[in-house]
Formats: sequence, structure tokens, C-alpha cells
Amino acid sequence: MFINEKICKKCGGKCCKSYPGIALPKDFGNSKEEILQKLTQALKSGKWTIDWNDRKKEEYFVRPAVKGKENFIFDHSISGECVFLTKSGCKLKYNERPSGCLLLEPKSNEKCIQHLSKRLAIEDWSKYKDIIIEAAINAEEIEGDLI
Ligand code: SF4
Ligand code: SF4
Repeated sequence: MFINEKICKKCGGKCCKSYPGIALPKDFGNSKEEILQKLTQALKSGKWTIDWNDRKKEEYFVRPAVKGKENFIFDHSISGECVFLTKSGCKLKYNERPSGCLLLEPKSNEKCIQHLSKRLAIEDWSKYKDIIIEAAINAEEIEGDLI
């Protein structure tokens, strides 16, 4: 986990203004049951969304919603300000933030280093595709083939 409040306060959250950090399955729990329950809750809150790989639509990952796109269960915005960003910084406690936020190493020259690649996150989520789909159905209470 890389936290440097001094650098980030001065910057004002440029990363959060451009795109939310990507979450990993473990950010929602340690078992499939827990991940399903917490991911369903998160999607129902309207503040989290399911996104996908540009080239392969069935390769999903989870991230906070962007402002103006709250309550979208699925969203593929390429940029946007994270819904959790406030004037005084991130609304979430450290242990509630996506891994992608905690693994972004702040640098005073704003050349911050991301230690979690989108590819790795997508690979991790690929083991939980059934959970993602189930959570989406639970959250939206829709029926049908989403795959
Ligand atoms: S991680 Fe980098 S871009 Fe994000 S708020 Fe901190 S200094 Fe700014
Ligand atoms: S969750 Fe917090 S730290 Fe992460 S992008 Fe959103 S506002 Fe920034």
C-alpha cells in the first residue's frame, strides 16, 4: 500500500479526477460467498460498476462509478471523475479503497507509479466471472443471458 497524504493533497487528486482505481476480488472479501454478497451490495449502492476489457467484452473488472454514471451496473466510460472524490479527498477509508488506488505510488513530480496493471486485475477477476454476473443480476434483479 502506497500512501502519501502530503503529495496527494498538494496534487488534489488528479488520478481520481481522470479515472477511478480498479478493484480486485479480494477487496470485496476472502471467499466467493463474501465477494458475491459485498459486490452485490456495492453495485446496488450505485457507486460501483462493472467494466470490461476493450477488446473482449466478456473480460470484466470492477471499479467505482464515475460521476454522472452512478447506478450503471455496467459501464465502459474511458475517463471520468471517481464518485468517491470530494473536495477534501477520497471519501473512503484506506481499507475500503480499490487495490488500484492503494497500489498507485504517489510521486511529487506527478509521475505516479501504478503497481497494479489492468491486465492483472482482469486476470484476477476472470476467476470470478460467475460471481460478477450473479452480483449484477442480484443488483439489477433482471433475468436473461448477460454473457
Ligand atoms: S497518486 Fe499521484 S495523481 Fe493521484 S492524487 Fe496522489 S499525487 Fe496526485
Ligand atoms: S476510490 Fe478514492 S482514491 Fe480511489 S479513485 Fe476514487 S476517490 Fe480516488
